[in-house]
Amino acid sequence: METMIHVQRAKELIADSIKPLDPLTVQLTDATGLVLAEDVFSQYDIPAYPQSSMDGYAFAFEEGKLTYVLDGEMAAGSNHQFQLKPGFAVRIFTGAAVPPGADTVLMQEKAAIQDGLLQLTDLQLKKGDNLRQAGSEIQKGAKALSKGHLLNASSIGFLAGMGISSVKVYPKPRVAILVTGNELQMPGKPLEYGQVYDSNSLTLKACLSQLHINDVDIFTCGDDLFQLQSTLEKALQYADLILMTGGVSVGDYDFTMDAFESCGVRKVFHKVRQKPGKPLLFGTRDEKLVFGLPGNPASVLTCFYQYVIPAIGEMMHSPTAIACMQVPLEHDHQKPAGLTHFLKAWYNGQTVSLQKGQESYKLSSYAAANCLAVFPETETTFYNGHLIEIHLLPK
Ligand code: AMP
Ligand code: MG
Repeated sequence: METMIHVQRAKELIADSIKPLDPLTVQLTDATGLVLAEDVFSQYDIPAYPQSSMDGYAFAFEEGKLTYVLDGEMAAGSNHQFQLKPGFAVRIFTGAAVPPGADTVLMQEKAAIQDGLLQLTDLQLKKGDNLRQAGSEIQKGAKALSKGHLLNASSIGFLAGMGISSVKVYPKPRVAILVTGNELQMPGKPLEYGQVYDSNSLTLKACLSQLHINDVDIFTCGDDLFQLQSTLEKALQYADLILMTGGVSVGDYDFTMDAFESCGVRKVFHKVRQKPGKPLLFGTRDEKLVFGLPGNPASVLTCFYQYVIPAIGEMMHSPTAIACMQVPLEHDHQKPAGLTHFLKAWYNGQTVSLQKGQESYKLSSYAAANCLAVFPETETTFYNGHLIEIHLLPK
């Protein structure tokens, strides 16, 4: 196990420990935010038949001809099949099949009807106007989306439009949250002397739900090795990713390290040269990842953004990393050398300013922040205008 490592080393060790999750076929309705594990091909021409893109009249265009005889109607969804004769026009509506024989649609605003005859008032009309050719979106057998594509709302709709109802994707991890501490009380219950409301489990659940991960169980444990060990073992039985909080330091009631040991979780590193979140512990058992996050609420969040989000991204073959930018600092700032500082900050679109209240037990300043500003381990003095790396927080 490595200890007191640099931030970058911790990131490398986590990345090296990850084996992406095995692909799975899921319903398209459950695939938002997931990455395709195979190329997807269209089974149909889309549109499947020539389609009107206007409410109007369809006919076989003849240069210079301004009058057509009206014959019948095609509404969207109509399956009436007939051949339109030259010199005739059919009343047609958006999305309806343009019958064979017709090659052009005139929009209704550009038409006049008199005694069953259609008069063109659009002299700009060209052959093929207002008609969606069969296969013009995608042709039967063509590749619609490639392996590795991140399914967003438009890709889900695109696939549904081809009649696809399930897809092979890299799944989301099943996650267990395990908060530890004798002092923890559930929000909603009265707070007794010495107790602290458990905020970490709700914070982490909210973080995961922002990543569309909702298959999450929460366990609460006292500071008791036996209880901790049996709960961790239970979580390891089914979860791909276990997020523990608290008990990672060296106090008499800190049992997370011991629980790793007794559950056979290989310790990869403990302690990172960073503030907040110095006591971070990370380990693996087979392909399962276990994070021993510190107990302090702001440390939990910072470690989630810095380490857990990229790990989940790797597991899902998805680049869900936090967006990073270099922006000027709005004021001077000093820090001691030795640790990388991740400070809660506000980016106003041009410059970044640090929040008051950076202590790791405070979430009020986090709640008012929209980014983390990164102050490197070895540097100490930062001036107004100094370019600082910021990590934008998910909204
Ligand atoms: P620990 O890492 O167990 O020493 O805890 C560090 C600090 O975080 C202590 O002040 C704990 O009371 C607090 N803490 C631990 N777990 C939680 C939690 N689930 N929610 C809120 N605060 C917590
Ligand atoms: Mg504790």
